Amino acid sequence: MIILVINSGSSSLKFQLLNMDNESVMAQGQVEKIGLPSGIFTIKAEGLKNKTELEIPNHEVAVELVLNGLLETKEAGLKSLDDIDAIGHRIVQGGDTFSKACLVDDAVRAKIEEYGAMAPLHNPAHLKGIDACSKVMPGKPQVVVFDTAFHQTMPAMAYTYGLPKEYAEKHKIRRYGAHGTSHRYVSGRVAELMGKPVEELKIITCHLGNGSSITAVKNGKVLDTSMGFTPHEGMLMGTRCGDIDATAVLYLMKHEGFTPERMDQMLNKESGLMGVSGVSSDFREIDDAIAAGNEQAKLARDIFIYRVKKYIGSYVAAMNGVDAIVFTAGIGENGPDVREEICADMDFLGIKIDAEKNNVRGKEVNISAEGSSVQVWVVPTNEELAIAQDTVAAAFGNN
Ligand code: AMP
Repeated sequence: MIILVINSGSSSLKFQLLNMDNESVMAQGQVEKIGLPSGIFTIKAEGLKNKTELEIPNHEVAVELVLNGLLETKEAGLKSLDDIDAIGHRIVQGGDTFSKACLVDDAVRAKIEEYGAMAPLHNPAHLKGIDACSKVMPGKPQVVVFDTAFHQTMPAMAYTYGLPKEYAEKHKIRRYGAHGTSHRYVSGRVAELMGKPVEELKIITCHLGNGSSITAVKNGKVLDTSMGFTPHEGMLMGTRCGDIDATAVLYLMKHEGFTPERMDQMLNKESGLMGVSGVSSDFREIDDAIAAGNEQAKLARDIFIYRVKKYIGSYVAAMNGVDAIVFTAGIGENGPDVREEICADMDFLGIKIDAEKNNVRGKEVNISAEGSSVQVWVVPTNEELAIAQDTVAAAFGNN
């Protein structure tokens, strides 16, 4: 069975073609700068990488480009578009409607549109991808896989803010979380690697990338997660401030005369590692700046690490223990030093890692030290595979 996975953004579209008989990637790539004067189309398959610059006026053209590219690239191994069995789309916000992936129909489409109010940068862009596929490949089953779905298993005490009920309900303000597909994938995968059913484990998954979130997964369900109403809450991230006293935001708006749009820009695009360091949102560049003696960069890194520790500690308390901690995404998979600093001085909780085993990048490895009562793992995330698996299940049964 062949599945095309699409992650459609406002001016970009990433894709991966997967053969689900052996869960291998046949081809992948992206279309960038859609709607801008000069677009870029990149496709990679077995031993081949092609990059083309051309005008890509809209998402429909982008999808056509992807399909033609897949057919023309012999290395991809796709003989005809009929061989694509279904398309899986990543959707950022599914509100409290979607607790699992489902086939797209008019009602589903309308709900994704409605939730665009909460994810204005994402949901409308996802719909462009869905609509383009409907036009270019009419009748092909399309499945939507929501970043928020896994977190729908959270209990009300974890997802409810302390706002007056009337306003919280009217505006659907609650914790939704994000990166759910990644948290579900790595928690399921670590259970497999440990040889135990996920339903019998307490797991803390640390998705540490440009966007970062931490999730407590108890017996296969989310107990709590650090991202909230939007992906802003929780960790200090590349450019997001994360946890902050909400009244500090009001104070800034009042005393600087900021509009909601300006404040949003500052909280989501100018804060975090970037805002504190004044140097970069990229962890590697933060490390370079620290090496050059930049103290603000050091502070930004310290906040990042301290906050991961705080979330781990609070989730251990909330779950009454933890069996496994998992590190994933750009920083989690590739930053031995970051993992070491996060896990330092946690022996009280039974968390100890082995320096040698921890010297690993982008591989599935148990990095716990002997005698650590908690298993600590690096598990590379694979959201595309998880989306393709959900697509097969939703389109062809087992869902
Ligand atoms: P992601 O959003 O998952 O792509 O992760 C992006 C973040 O991962 C950036 O802050 C990168 O600096 C960081 N990252 C990627 N590769 C490495 C690496 N080899 N060492 C440390 N950080 C890395």
